[in-house]
Amino acid sequence: MLNLIEVRNLKKAFGTNIVLKDINETVEKGQVICVVGPSGSGKSTFLRCLNVLEEPTEGQVLFDGKDLIHLNEEELNGLRQRMGMVFQSFNLFPNMSVLDNVKLAPLRVKKVGEEKATEDAKKLLKQVGLEDKAEQYPESLSGGQMQRVAIARALAMDPEVMLFDEPTSALDPEMVGEVLKVMRDLADSGMTMVVVTHEMGFAKEVADQIWFMDDGYIQEKGKPQDFFTAPKTERARAFLSKML
Ligand code: ADP
Ligand code: MG
Repeated sequence: MLNLIEVRNLKKAFGTNIVLKDINETVEKGQVICVVGPSGSGKSTFLRCLNVLEEPTEGQVLFDGKDLIHLNEEELNGLRQRMGMVFQSFNLFPNMSVLDNVKLAPLRVKKVGEEKATEDAKKLLKQVGLEDKAEQYPESLSGGQMQRVAIARALAMDPEVMLFDEPTSALDPEMVGEVLKVMRDLADSGMTMVVVTHEMGFAKEVADQIWFMDDGYIQEKGKPQDFFTAPKTERARAFLSKML
């Protein structure tokens, strides 16, 4: 198995607040990892260290064998393009149509031609079930639709891994399912994914591995059926009992 991401002795402190204490994990190509844990336990910080939106205080993050920490800005941007990221807030460009939102990075960053960019963007909108919204503006969409556009936009760069940080946390409950379905389809297609989520049903069904984070460490990891039915640590048991 190819290790797409390798994290070694990762530490991250904000001043005196040591958020990540010592993380050592690998993500294999094609794996779906769900990161779960209490609020404030460092899940977002961890995800942001994976593509160096946060600079680790110590340790290494290797992507496809390359250490991201010591790259110059240009090399880092090149590698970042190979990782898609979807946040809780959708951050679509409000003054652009849905189609233009999806086309923008391929046109500007990858220098893809106009026709090809349009064709690809339409395919992606179809993939997320929004081909009929191409000409609309974000303000006319629901939260669930906006998040699906945000996923299509991330996919437009043809990433090798997708990082999701609580993509459904800001959504009304009735819209969560449509976004999780898109993510589930993506997982089924073989995409490598690291997903921070509170959606335990999704994690149980889709994850290859659950990583339970608390107090700056991955306290426990395992297959979903093991983690959810027989958590090994008291911390995980306490966390799960609050999630039900
Ligand atoms: P989670 O995503 O699990 O809720 P976070 O990674 O957002 O946790 O936060 C973990 C800790 O790191 C919190 O104590 C938070 O206040 C702190 N933190 C996160 N980002 C920053 C930052 N940019 N500056 C200072 N402290 C931060
Ligand atoms: Mg978070």
